[in-house]
Amino acid sequence: MNDRQAADVASPNRTKEVIRKHGFTLKKSLGQNFLTDANILHKIAASAGLDSAKGVLEIGPGIGALTQQLAKAAGKVVAVEIDGRLLPILEETLAPYPHVSVVHGDVLKIDLDALWREHFSGCSKVSVVANLPYYVTTPIIMKLLDRKLPLEYIVVMIQREVAERMSAKPGGKEYGSLSIAVQYYAETEIVAIVPPTVFIPQPNVDSAVIRLKLREAPPVHVEDEALFFDVVHACFAQRRKTISNNLLAGLFDKASKPAMEAILADCGIDPSRRGETLAIDEYARLSNAILAYRRQSR
Ligand code: SAM
Repeated sequence: MNDRQAADVASPNRTKEVIRKHGFTLKKSLGQNFLTDANILHKIAASAGLDSAKGVLEIGPGIGALTQQLAKAAGKVVAVEIDGRLLPILEETLAPYPHVSVVHGDVLKIDLDALWREHFSGCSKVSVVANLPYYVTTPIIMKLLDRKLPLEYIVVMIQREVAERMSAKPGGKEYGSLSIAVQYYAETEIVAIVPPTVFIPQPNVDSAVIRLKLREAPPVHVEDEALFFDVVHACFAQRRKTISNNLLAGLFDKASKPAMEAILADCGIDPSRRGETLAIDEYARLSNAILAYRRQSR
C-alpha cells in the first residue's frame, strides 16, 4: 500500500470497504463514529503545527483515518485504542508508517508518564490530536490537563456544546466549572464546527474541533489548586443560587458566615453575584483568601 491509497481511508466508500472487508461492527458504546472527510482530517492535523521533530499522541485511532494524516506530518505517532478488534485493521492501514505505534488500552487507565518515557523522549514537543469518543470527552481532557504532561497542543473533535462550554467567557449560560478548569491550563480556540454528515455512523449532535494551547504557567496565582477547584465547584453547585448561598452550602457553615462575608468583602466580590459572573482571577483571589482564613483560624 502506498501513501495515496492509505489516504483514501478518509472517504465514505473506503471506510465502508475497510469495515466490510474485516467484518467489523461499530460499537456505539465506545463512541465509534469514524470521520470520513479528508478536508476536515487535514484541518485537524494542520491545527497541531506538527513537524518531523514532534510527536503526537492520538486517542482512539479507529481504522486509522486521522492517524495517517498525523503520520505524514509528525516524527512519531502513538495511537491508543481500546478496541482490540481494530488492531488488525490498523496494522493494514498504517503499514506504510513505521513511526506509528499502536498501543492497545484504555486511555483513562494507561500510565501516561510511562508512555511518554517509552515513546516521546526523542521528540522536541508532543501534542494530543484526536477525534475523541464522546462518552468520555471530559474525563480524557481533564486527565491530560491535570497530569501536567509536557504538551504543546490538544487538538480534538468533541461535541460542539462541550467545546462551547470549554471556551466560554464569564456571563453566559455556557460558562461553568469546565470553562474555568480548561482555561486555567490552556488557551482555547474553536477551529471548526463540523456537521454530523461527515461521520459513519452520524452522531446526533454537531461537533467542533477545539484547539487547546497549553500554558507555561496558569493565568492567575493560585496557592492551593485543590481548594481553588473546590471553590469553583461550590459556586456553581446550584447555578441559580448566589455565591454566598452556594459557599454556605459547600464550604462554610452557619457559624462561619460572618467570616465568609468578610472574605467576600475583602476580595471586592458582591455576595449576591452568581458563580457564572465571576472571572477566573476572582476565583483565584477568593480561594487564596479562604486559604488564608483557614490557616489563621487553625
Ligand atoms: N480516529 C478515528 C476517526 O477519526 O475516524 C476514530 C474516532 S472514534 C470517534 C473514537 C475511537 O476511540 C474509537 O476507535 C473507539 O474504539 C476509541 N475509544 C473509545 N474509548 C476509548 C478509550 N477509553 N481509550 C482509547 N480509545 C478509546
